[in-house]
Amino acid sequence: MFGRILIANRGEIALRVLRACRRMGVTPVVAYSEADRDSRAVRLADEAICVGPADSARSYLSAASILSAAVVTGCDAIHPGYGFLSEDDTFAEMTRAHGLTFIGPPPEVLERFASKAGTRQLLGRHGLPTVPGSHGMLRDDDHGLAEAERIGYPVLIKPSAGGGGRGMRLVRSSRELQQALTICRSEARAAFGDDSLYLEKWLDETRHVEVQVLVDRYGNGVHVGERDCSVQRRHQKIVEEAPTPALTDARRAELADIAVRAVVAAGYENVGTLEFLVDGQGDAYFIEINCRIQVEHPVTEMLSGIDLVTEQIRIAAGEPLGHTQADVRLRGHAIELRINAEDVEHDFRPQAGRVSEYLPPGGPGVRMDSHLFAGYEVPPYYDSLLGKLIVWGPDRMTAIERARVALGELVIDGLKTNVPFHRALLHDGAFLEGRFTTDLLDRVGSAAFLAAAPGARS
Ligand code: ADP
Repeated sequence: MFGRILIANRGEIALRVLRACRRMGVTPVVAYSEADRDSRAVRLADEAICVGPADSARSYLSAASILSAAVVTGCDAIHPGYGFLSEDDTFAEMTRAHGLTFIGPPPEVLERFASKAGTRQLLGRHGLPTVPGSHGMLRDDDHGLAEAERIGYPVLIKPSAGGGGRGMRLVRSSRELQQALTICRSEARAAFGDDSLYLEKWLDETRHVEVQVLVDRYGNGVHVGERDCSVQRRHQKIVEEAPTPALTDARRAELADIAVRAVVAAGYENVGTLEFLVDGQGDAYFIEINCRIQVEHPVTEMLSGIDLVTEQIRIAAGEPLGHTQADVRLRGHAIELRINAEDVEHDFRPQAGRVSEYLPPGGPGVRMDSHLFAGYEVPPYYDSLLGKLIVWGPDRMTAIERARVALGELVIDGLKTNVPFHRALLHDGAFLEGRFTTDLLDRVGSAAFLAAAPGARS
């Protein structure tokens, strides 16, 4: 096992990794930007090292700064958390070249799964049903037009290097396609430094269902069930739950089984998540794999009792998987609410500022993963996630009731949060009946959704 791990991230995930390190007897060293000097992770760390200014391009995304910080502090591994450098195969390779371990898939595995279009083809060959789409990347506009005709409109243009729901565009006819391709290309170049695009058939009124897998270096793999992430705004997840209300137990088991088989056959390693869209008939279509720990991993931890971050570190250290599929037991129902610094009344505009009071909720089956404390200054430079409220119950309705009580206890004063949205959601008919689809909120409009909700003002 490692002696010292550099945590190259911030916010709640830095704390989450720090806790896993402590549990395993590993010394956590926290890398922080100047804007995060007073963070909770820095306060709790055995050691902390500044890696640059607030601008993440020069701190959390700077391979040179992170690597020198790891070397100077005598770390033997780097945990990238999620976002930032977590799926960067070049960074993973540089880490290895410095004699350190990247906690995630090995560089050649990251490289194999780096292109979303390529991954869809690769896992399709290994038995996964995939969303119909272009054969590889689009060479030019004419290729795009021909592929769109073949797939059939509406189509979704996607940046191959994309993430976080950004840079996608829905196109309903050939008339719109050319202009949309030009816009997407320049947006992708600006956002990801890579303008390659591909096409997928747009699947209407689907649910987002993803399968959590664990695969060790020796080709042993298990799944830890699925999560449903259909409550989204502009393709970004807001609420995740498990098990999904969209599938029968038989379909659920079948999906998880083919997912784990396909990734093992394709040579995947470490923790990973395979994302699918599920239509009204319960048919699932693979869209992408995330080669890292995800924001919503606690949902699975609540159901399985497995500490996914500890497993991730153990696998990266070369230890064999500690579980067979028969050992993985999933119990009850869990829901995660992402608590964001957002003004729901003004188009969910991100907020920054000082937290004057913070009181986390508690009680049976309630977990709050957050880096907040009273007096904490939420910086304007990073994403708006303030924390995650995760609840567990023996069944879905108990979990929802616990979520309502917990949300009522949660106090975050000093800046606006999306708690009013969650209050509305936990009383919404479609959500209560488990009928939420990924496009529902955007179709209704977030403002109209809030105005119509009986619980929003309570
Ligand atoms: P990102 O990596 O940017 O998050 P994903 O491919 O994971 O992009 O897609 C994010 C969300 O966008 C999905 O959860 C779903 O709501 C929507 N989406 C993606 N692909 C399709 C598709 N082919 N048809 C309909 N919706 C889609």
